[in-house]
Amino acid sequence: MSAPKEVDVLGFTYTVQFVSSDESGGDKLGWCDFTNLQIYITEGQPKSGLANTFLHEVIHAVNYSMGITSGKEEQLTNRLANGFCAVWKENPAAFKWWSDLLQEKPKRKVPRRAAVKKKPRRRNPRSRK
Ligand SMILES: [Zn+2]
Repeated sequence: MSAPKEVDVLGFTYTVQFVSSDESGGDKLGWCDFTNLQIYITEGQPKSGLANTFLHEVIHAVNYSMGITSGKEEQLTNRLANGFCAVWKENPAAFKWWSDLLQEKPKRKVPRRAAVKKKPRRRNPRSRK
């Protein structure tokens, strides 16, 4: 499966760009630009590193949209990304099921009227001829 070019975060579409370590300044694995709605991921990381960095930057975007601006936001983001990557890796079937639940469209309700049979009308016995 190819890497996403975009990711929607709470109503904002971020463009995902993969950049060289030269472009990232050499010491960043990724960063999130909230003003320009860009997520940058440094290329050349092992797959587990890419997964962690991608999730890390998405968590930053979620935090920003939700107004989570605590001074410990970076630390919290790191811990959440590390924790969720570990749990996801250990439980792929559970998260496949979980992801499918989120994609399921609500079932359309069948109008009850169609299922209810009308009582047959009784003829007025006095009207018989
Ligand atoms: Zn960060």
